[in-house]
Amino acid sequence: MTLTLVPPPAPHPTRAARPLDVLGVPGQINLDYAATAPCARAAADAVAELLPWYASVHRGAGALSRRCTLAYERARQTVGDFFGARADDHVVFTRNTTDALNLLARALPAGTTVVAFGGEHHANLLPWPRGSVRLPVPDSPGAAVRALDAALGELRRVHSPHAAGPDLPVLVAVTGASNVTGERWPVAELARVARRHRARIAVDAAQLAPHAPVDVTALDVDYLAVSGHKLYAPFGAGVLVGRADWLDAAPPYLAGGGATSHVGPATHDVRWTTGPARHEAGTPNLLGAVALAAVCAAFTSADRTALHRAEQALLTRLREGVAALPHVVELRTFGPDAPRVGIVSFVVAGRDSAEVAAELAGRHDIGVRDGLFCAHPLARRLLGEAAARSGRRDLPPTALRASIGLGSTTGHVDRLLTALAELG
Ligand code: PLP
Repeated sequence: MTLTLVPPPAPHPTRAARPLDVLGVPGQINLDYAATAPCARAAADAVAELLPWYASVHRGAGALSRRCTLAYERARQTVGDFFGARADDHVVFTRNTTDALNLLARALPAGTTVVAFGGEHHANLLPWPRGSVRLPVPDSPGAAVRALDAALGELRRVHSPHAAGPDLPVLVAVTGASNVTGERWPVAELARVARRHRARIAVDAAQLAPHAPVDVTALDVDYLAVSGHKLYAPFGAGVLVGRADWLDAAPPYLAGGGATSHVGPATHDVRWTTGPARHEAGTPNLLGAVALAAVCAAFTSADRTALHRAEQALLTRLREGVAALPHVVELRTFGPDAPRVGIVSFVVAGRDSAEVAAELAGRHDIGVRDGLFCAHPLARRLLGEAAARSGRRDLPPTALRASIGLGSTTGHVDRLLTALAELG
């Protein structure tokens, strides 16, 4: 077998001069931001600046090494500030959201029950221990709040019947925005419910953070998980922000150098450090952390209201365009007017979704996602509902997803709509 190496695409001419302009390949229309967003200029510049002089982090006495340690810890501070970390929270660098939620799952005190809705991404369903509670997918944000209240009330009756009793050994795990529908979940209201029942709450902000400010203090949530590669930084860096006590009491997520304060000759003679380093054994991903911090800083300086308005205008154009195509049916959990980020999933009646995605790529240079989006229970259910709502019997068993972000334009959206219209 001969392997042909495909040369990397030429980078976009350096038209992108502002920190939140994104890099891209001319002619290629990326409508798959929800999977991985393109790199922001701020992240590319931060990485380019570091490349010539990077050295070991937390391990060397040389000037470059000390500078890198400082850069890494500054990145932690910037990222923590961006997500509203409280003074005593930990900000642990991870590989991505999946890694952050798995770390949290390993840090759960024994006997903790995790309560999650069944519409979550697999990353926020599968790490949780056996015995976790999976609530049915609600049909409105209000129903979600009521269902959580009822579930926590029930758990409270079991664990701690007295209102002033100790904390409920429960962690609520909820998404900020669905990766299937883009619908935003009522995180602040769910957090209020969790607080009232003295439970903790973790937010999977993988899809929300690229589109809206997320602040753990303002939302009053205990933990937040985010992926850098969905937030316009390159792959390999994510973060878990949240309460220190569980994290400091848990076994280290990875065992190895950097996570210990003492290792003696006997196998059991180990003292693990506390703080983020406890869960960051091994040489850290300095470039990823610095790139993520650069994007956070760029967002902090940006006019987020204007960004939101621009994205919502594009999203409306996309959704209205999809709604006008009789052979295309949108997937949704809540009502059509529920607040959303720039994600739309749909099916083309009578057409296999993988074939449509391949055709969009091959004939139109448009990149979308097809499948069940790592949220199989939700996607299957929404496909069934789409069939019932539309009355069509020829809907395929998987879906398509178009997602937009900072580099998206009306031209991109219109090209997709034109291509979809031709399939009718
Ligand atoms: N949570 C949500 C809502 C997601 O959309 C994704 C990825 O698509 C993840 C978690 C997992 O992110 P990652 O693959 O970066 O770990």
